[in-house]
Amino acid sequence: MIHSAIIAIDGYSSSGKSTFARAIASELGYIYIDSGAMYRAVTLYCLENGILTADRLDHKKLTESLDKIDIEFSVDPETRKQFTLLNGINVEDKIRGIGVSEVVSKVSQVKEVRSKMVRLQRNISKKGGVVMEGRDIGTVVFPDAGMKIFMTAAADIRARRRYDELAQKGVKISYEEVLENIRMRDREDENRIESPLRKAEDALTLDNSNMTPDEQMRWFRRKWKSINRSYENQY
Ligand code: C5P
Repeated sequence: MIHSAIIAIDGYSSSGKSTFARAIASELGYIYIDSGAMYRAVTLYCLENGILTADRLDHKKLTESLDKIDIEFSVDPETRKQFTLLNGINVEDKIRGIGVSEVVSKVSQVKEVRSKMVRLQRNISKKGGVVMEGRDIGTVVFPDAGMKIFMTAAADIRARRRYDELAQKGVKISYEEVLENIRMRDREDENRIESPLRKAEDALTLDNSNMTPDEQMRWFRRKWKSINRSYENQY
């Protein structure tokens, strides 16, 4: 069965998945789900509970703690911005910091963590009308999604965008550090054993190195129309 009401967006770190996925969700009236925020929230839990230290991830303690980790999303009624809750606490700012970014790929490699996240992601999406972004959405979470997009952009362009975003928030970090973090996460996400970052065979590639957000949306509308037209002809 094809889940036409699910749009799966995968791709490299800082390739603009969130902005793009949010814009699509708002245009179609779909729910937007940032699966990376879920891995980031588990990582924060590990850092705050001594499960992950500078040189060690306590695998046993992590798997034993999984039942105590509750992750939800909520929306601020005033700003309409979505935020992530870890055991009932808003952790949106904390999970975006470099402290979490530097170690998240250690936690997202763990099989038991992935199984729990995939279960949660499928549960939240039961009602349909979902745009979900991450690394394994089109390959593992929803292999039968109605539309799959794989996003990429040159590493230096991604690093520049991320650096500008962090600088705007007042985070003190150099461009070189951001670039190194992006390269490291690409490497770890592509080479891990559990659900490595891959383009699904039936995904459309969007290289947005030289595209504005408006151009990306025009690209999306064209593809969306043609996908829906081909469904209509099929059924
Ligand atoms: O998308 P974002 O950069 O916030 O994701 C943070 C990290 O979470 C990624 O570097 C990756 O290790 C992990 N992740 C994942 N599978 C997903 C989404 C994110 O492994 N579906």
